Amino acid sequence: MKAMVLRAPKTPFELTDVPDPVAGPGEAVARVLACGSGLTIQHIKAGRIAAEFPRIIGHEITGEIVAVGPGVDGLRVGDGVTSYYYLNCGHCRYCQTNFEPLCVNSGGNVGRTCDGGYAEYIKLPAHIFIRLPEGLDYKAHPAEVGVITDALATPYKVLRRARVRAGETVAVFGAGGGVGIHQLMLAKWARARVIAIDVATNKFDACRKAGADEVVDASAGNVAEALLDLTRGKGVDVAIDYVSTTATLEAAARSLGIHGRLVTLGGAGQSFTVSSLEMLLKEQDLLGSRYVTRSEILETLDLVARGEIWPLVSEIHPLAEAEAVHAKLERGEVIGRAALRIA
Ligand SMILES: [Zn+2]
Repeated sequence: MKAMVLRAPKTPFELTDVPDPVAGPGEAVARVLACGSGLTIQHIKAGRIAAEFPRIIGHEITGEIVAVGPGVDGLRVGDGVTSYYYLNCGHCRYCQTNFEPLCVNSGGNVGRTCDGGYAEYIKLPAHIFIRLPEGLDYKAHPAEVGVITDALATPYKVLRRARVRAGETVAVFGAGGGVGIHQLMLAKWARARVIAIDVATNKFDACRKAGADEVVDASAGNVAEALLDLTRGKGVDVAIDYVSTTATLEAAARSLGIHGRLVTLGGAGQSFTVSSLEMLLKEQDLLGSRYVTRSEILETLDLVARGEIWPLVSEIHPLAEAEAVHAKLERGEVIGRAALRIA
């Protein structure tokens, strides 16, 4: 099969022929129709997230099962599928109690510790594939359907994690990013008042289109003050930080009102200082959020199937153009998600 292979971090892709994957016991192989191109996998290419090489990256797939190995039930040849991102075990206490991202036997990630979707075929443990629901026209929209598993499901989970209710004010830090912009969309869908915060002013129009009622240019500084002004001093109900530097986290914490909730899921992962007295007096919550459960992916797929939300894939390219797509990702020039069309 044709595959886009990375021999090492910080090297260009090589479009090359590799052996077709063969489904062993408990495994299945899917033909890949499309695969999302987000910043997480660009971090792998750029060496900022560790991986094993050579590697075929990509996890936001739409595919069709072409082979199932011995012992696999629940998947049949011809099934439309997407993929769960974590190679979780499916058996531990966390996997069995709907906390799958916290699996204690995790084998890593699709496209990081095993080969992913930048290829004509992908082989995974069968339980990592997720069958697409009826009513989702994945053949007509494989790129959009592929990115649901991460770009849309991750912010969908955050709505519940932060207990967002209609009429509340939700501030999204890093709103112009691929997941941030989908967070705006989902917060609007949840009938919140939505404030987008970013330094990328070229993405503000897209933020407004996605659902932001207001935008705040973080490069001007004073973000907490701007958020307090926009809420007449009350503060925001929910601040969601897709950046998570010390500066964004402290601004997010200072912008919270009574019963405010701060959710951190940004990759910077820096430390920050908050006032415990403010937290106590206002009964505020600090929350971490990582990837999603299978049930959250299924619920998000259903939302798209019902036409309530539509993923923002602004550009779709053939597999051969992966290098150019990743150069744009690195420069921060992609609005929403880019995707590669493979079959
Ligand atoms: Zn587990």
